Amino acid sequence: MKAESLLEEIKSKIDIVDFISDYVQLKKSGQNYKGLCPFHSEKTPSFMVSQSKQIFHCFGCGIGGDVVRFLMKHENLSFNEATRYIAKKAGIKIREFRFDKNLSERRERILQINREAMKFFIKNLNGSEAAKTYLKNRGIEEASIDSFCIGYATDEMDGLIEYLKKMGYSDSFIKDAGLAVSSASGGEKGYRDVFRGRIIFPIFNYQHDVIAFGGRVISDSLPKYLNSPETEVFKKGDTLFALNLAKEDIRKKGYAIIVEGYLDVIVCYQYGFKNTVAPLGTALTSRQLQRLKLMTEKVVLVFDSDEAGISAARRSLAILCGCDFRARVLLLPEGEDPDSFLRKKGSQPFKRMLSGAMSIIEFLLNTSSASGGGDRIDTVREALGMISGMRDLIIADELLGELADRSRINESVLRSELKKIKKKAGPNSLEGFGLVRAAKNKEEYLLVSAIIALPEKAEYVLSRLNIEDLKDETIKSLLKKIKALGDKLNMRSLLDEADDQERTLITGLSLNPGFDLEHVDRNIDDCLQTLAQKRFDERRRLAEESGDIALLNSLLKEKRKLLKGQTYERIP
Ligand SMILES: [Zn+2]
Repeated sequence: MKAESLLEEIKSKIDIVDFISDYVQLKKSGQNYKGLCPFHSEKTPSFMVSQSKQIFHCFGCGIGGDVVRFLMKHENLSFNEATRYIAKKAGIKIREFRFDKNLSERRERILQINREAMKFFIKNLNGSEAAKTYLKNRGIEEASIDSFCIGYATDEMDGLIEYLKKMGYSDSFIKDAGLAVSSASGGEKGYRDVFRGRIIFPIFNYQHDVIAFGGRVISDSLPKYLNSPETEVFKKGDTLFALNLAKEDIRKKGYAIIVEGYLDVIVCYQYGFKNTVAPLGTALTSRQLQRLKLMTEKVVLVFDSDEAGISAARRSLAILCGCDFRARVLLLPEGEDPDSFLRKKGSQPFKRMLSGAMSIIEFLLNTSSASGGGDRIDTVREALGMISGMRDLIIADELLGELADRSRINESVLRSELKKIKKKAGPNSLEGFGLVRAAKNKEEYLLVSAIIALPEKAEYVLSRLNIEDLKDETIKSLLKKIKALGDKLNMRSLLDEADDQERTLITGLSLNPGFDLEHVDRNIDDCLQTLAQKRFDERRRLAEESGDIALLNSLLKEKRKLLKGQTYERIP
């Protein structure tokens, strides 16, 4: 089967509204569906999905496209990966089929080599009494070893490399995949395994692909934890450990628990707190939280109550506030992490502590002196700084009220202080994307809009326009593509040809054409006439400036024609 027709079949079997509903809460709104955009932070829905056109568009940030484009953006996938995923969902087998060789073949191969490496590590664990004993002593159950696909890397210098090379992978590819490093000792082989003598925790993306590994020593050697280096498929700041397993429980329980380490996550999971995730040995990032936000906006941070734990919690809270999360903090008794606490005390005390977790304000004020956070006034300023980063005014207001109560500082004083901080930070630059441009060249936009709504009008419009005369570069390039498509023009063919900016225009205009489709012919003629008039005025201005009398005279003749209504002859 040809790539295009297979692609058509896949798209025809998936309904975009059903598909996006797995990611965004959609509500019917007129002919379309509306929801909060997953690609930018907002409180009023500007994300629209059209069932009849099978496209989506966000009027806030401008992202738009079809179902494949949605998944690509949402999951950071290549075209090929997204298509395969959707095909799988539609029940179409395309195992051997590649839609876009250049983009994703390498990524696919890296995912594949990671899968092989994971199998290798799991086999090692089964063969190592020391590793099994270690996990047993840490209270990790057999079922968790299976669920989390835990493995083991032996002490061998290049056990994995040799294994993978036998499967046909080259040294340099194994290194690019993050599984080997150049050997510092400069031995004859040149490479050694990244992970040696470590329990291995595979790191999965949202679709259960292994994208990297984390390793923990079972001896006293250092570093205690080691992660894969970043690769084409793995960016540390993008991924939360165990989100692939936790997502259902997070949705069900309505909040997520964020802990620090792999073992904490696994032990929480064993004790029934399956809504637990962890950043990967780094501070939380807003990219990790964007993904989480699709499931919930409530989190409980669980930290050790020592100084390091408190300052880590502070940093995380600032990020959480910036992403409009409603966060609370649970500080465990000093020296305890969720892993040790649960194994000592069991799930009930942990549950009680979770429900008594501190609000952000409570946490900041309670811990200000303990963490070197400065005095009370500094803490109030720190809290105001966090609140000022929130775009959700309701949550921000609630926090401000609490801050006033707990700090005993007058709320109106806090409010005016908050205003000052906000003023310094400046407005959100994403808002109003594209609108200014559209207003300036309104007719050009409306003509393209008419063609997108009614492709049969393309010929009429194009025969009466000189594309090069137009002002807006995106409109120009889009009209050229429309012209080149000829009678193959439709929404899908156009979206496939378009680049990012053009796609934004196509989906935006098809959901909001800007004129009444009933009077489309009159609108087209009005726009053509206005454009002709604008072009005429410009030429006259140029002629006047250059003092070209002959040209001015011929322009005058044209003007008479214009006035007679013969506007649509192409102006040379
Ligand atoms: Zn958006």
